[in-house]
Formats: sequence, structure tokens, C-alpha cells
Amino acid sequence: MTHSSALEAANTFEELNLAPELLSAVAEMGYVTPTPIQREAIPLVLAGRDLLAQAQTGTGKTAAFTLPLLHKMCPHANTSTSPARHPVRALVLAPTRELAIQVYDNVAAYAKHLPLRSTVVFGGVNMKEQEAILRGGVEVLVATPGRLLDHAGNKTTLLNQVQFLVLDEADRMLDMGFLPDLKRILDLLPAKRQTLLFSATFNDEITRLANSFLRDPLKVEVARKNTATELVEQVAHKVADDDKIDALLRVVKLRELSQALVFTRTKIAADKLCRRLQKRGVEAAAIHGDKAQVDRLLALEGFKQGKIKLLVATDIAARGIDIAELPCVFNYELPYSPEDYVHRIGRTGRAGASGLAVSLVSPDEDKLLAGVERFINRKLEITPLPSPPAPVPAPAPVPPSARVAAANVDAAPVSRGRRTSEPVCALFLPPVRTGQDGGAPE
Ligand code: AMP
Repeated sequence: MTHSSALEAANTFEELNLAPELLSAVAEMGYVTPTPIQREAIPLVLAGRDLLAQAQTGTGKTAAFTLPLLHKMCPHANTSTSPARHPVRALVLAPTRELAIQVYDNVAAYAKHLPLRSTVVFGGVNMKEQEAILRGGVEVLVATPGRLLDHAGNKTTLLNQVQFLVLDEADRMLDMGFLPDLKRILDLLPAKRQTLLFSATFNDEITRLANSFLRDPLKVEVARKNTATELVEQVAHKVADDDKIDALLRVVKLRELSQALVFTRTKIAADKLCRRLQKRGVEAAAIHGDKAQVDRLLALEGFKQGKIKLLVATDIAARGIDIAELPCVFNYELPYSPEDYVHRIGRTGRAGASGLAVSLVSPDEDKLLAGVERFINRKLEITPLPSPPAPVPAPAPVPPSARVAAANVDAAPVSRGRRTSEPVCALFLPPVRTGQDGGAPE
């Protein structure tokens, strides 16, 4: 069933009746008004309902589930050092390590004024450190499914007191083959619990599946199904495969993009593109599933700090990444699954900022483009690649006497004239190394 506005929509966080500690944390994050998904979901979660929530990426869905869950856990908040006083009460599952870390960062920020403990566990790193934290007791556990099962199998953590289960990016979790893991995890949880499913896209099969373990769920939809966020300008350029790297650099240069996330379909393509970009002197890094966890985090951190200009990523690695004010996403290769297009372009234009999504479409990708267009229910405008500004004509010859006077008054014509002889796109040139730009961390 679809939730209709039975509950009055709140315009402020105060009206959502959240604990003062949460209101302070939200204010410190700089949030002024709740986003639509927060307005819709928070009262329902507070009322104890199971949810099937569809919200586009970047709409504030993490706070939509975290804030009410923390509020509901307030009566259990305590400063005791006994692990028994800090059982896992809320379990948040995410499909990728990066998303899990991001959700955890948010949980920690929202819970900063409350004596509730939280942590994140994910694979690819040593278990020891995670074990020590789990043994001490945490109320909120954010995890990727496989690593959670490892810890549960070792009895490092008990899940028999979990009251709240959240599946973030639920469609992908089910899609990525996590269903067997998920079923094993569900078997470890009390049957009586509140379950929340958040996802940017849902198809019928996943909805059916989700309904099988939700209790009388309310469906919350804040955006039209499968519509990419309207704040993102979407353009497509027809480019032969061999010309894509030049096209990418040209758009970056001419659109004056400070940074962009560049998607390829495969890990091999991501590595190859990253190497070619680095050879051309561009600060680039790649993230994908085969990279060591530490390299993925380094690349992501370098990107967030602005040291990496182009981050080349595959779909899985980039899932859920939230980078404030990311100006542009490139589909260097269109995804095989049209849903991934929506997720990709959702990396830009987040939380009210405008964004740009550029697809470089080679002739053999026409079918994929048609699939994307069917999925988002609109045509992508194919535009020519941006061209460099027309050269400024050289100034007309002037008599020698006038030349001296002009040079004294205004040097502009001289500098304009010189600019026309500069290369069209500096990014196409071999790297000019300065003290700082020693290349990507990889
Ligand atoms: P999410 O969809 O949870 O990944 O959130 C996307 C971004 O929106 C994150 O950077 C959040 O910090 C930010 N955000 C969440 N809620 C709000 C809000 N009410 N006002 C402003 N920014 C928000």
C-alpha cells in the first residue's frame, strides 16, 4: 500500500519531535529543513512501521532512517562500560564497503551528543580491530553482509537483541547476489523487529521479495519511479571508442570542471583509462572491486580532498559515494544495466546542488542508450562536443607612434593576441610537473 499524507508533513526538524541531542547534531551539520524523504519517513519510523522507501540517491535517506532510529534508542543510551549494556539494537546493511563507511560516518555524526555506540564492519581488512570494538558492545552496527556473517559466526557479536534492521540500497543488495547471506542474517535476528528498506530503484521482483520479510509495510515514494534527479543536466555526445579520452578531456577543459567521477563498465577498462589519464598528466585514480581496500580509501579520500581530479570507477565501487558538490559524472561507457545509469548520475546534483552528467556514447552503445532512455522514460539529447572559443582576430596593424601609446594605456590587446597562439587544450599536453602534483597516490 502507498502511504498517503495521513500525517501532517513537518517543515522543520523540531516539528518531527526528535530528541534535543539529535536536533543539535542536525543543526551542527548545517541542515535547516528536512528533505522530502525525511519528512515522509521519519514520522512513520517513529510510529514503528516497516517501510519500503524509494528515494533517489542524494535525497538525504541516511538521515531519514538514522535519526528516528537513534531517537527510539535514546531510552537505552548509557555510559556504562559493561558490554552487556550495549547490545546491537540497530543493524544497517549496505552492499559495499564505501557505502557502509559513509552511512557509519553519518550515524556517528548524528549520534555525537548521545551515549550510544556505533561502528562499521566490512571485508577486505583485518578482523581483529573490528572484533575488539564489537566485543566492547555497540548499539548501532553498520555492516556489509559477508563480514557481518564472519563476525556472527565467531560469536564476536550477537544479533539476538536487534530491534531495527535497515537495508540500504536494498535493490542492489538483493541484486548483487547477497540474498543467501541476507537470509542467513535474517535467521539470526529476532522475528519481532522493525525493518526498513531504502533504495533508489525497485523492480517488481525485488518488491515482492522484500514484502516477504516486511510486516505490513508502508510504501514511501518521494520521487517518480526511476527518474534521474531533475537537477542534473544530462547530455550525450556521440564519440568513437578511440576518441573517448580526448572527448573526456575536452569536456573537462571547456566546461572548466574541477573534478569528475568517470564510470567504466569493467575493472580492466577503469585501470586502463586511469593509466592513460595519468600519462597525460591528469591527477587520476581508479576504484573498483579488485583494488585493495586501503587503495580504494586512499583514492576516495584524495578525491574528496580535491587532490584527484578524475576518479575512474566501476559501478559497484562507486555505489553510494557521496561527495559534496561533485560537479560532474561521466558515463565513459554506458552501463549494461539501465538502473546503474540512474545511480551513476545520482552522484552529482546531490542535496539540492545542480550537476552535470555527460555520456560518451560510441556507435556500439546505441542499444544501451536506448535501454537507458526507456528506463528513465525520456530521450537523452545528443549534442556535438563543445568546441573551443573562436580565436580572437589579430589586432589590425597600427602605426609605430600609436603602438607606444597603446602599450602604455592598456596591455590587453597584446595579451589577447598572445593567447590565440596558446594550445587549444592544455590537458592534451605532456604533464608539467610542479612541486605538488606528484601524481595519484596509487
Ligand atoms: P544521502 O541521500 O543520505 O546520501 O544524503 C546526501 C547528502 O545530503 C549528504 O551529504 C547529507 O549530509 C546531506 N543531507 C541529508 N539531509 C539533509 C538536510 N535535511 N539538509 C541538507 N543536507 C542534507
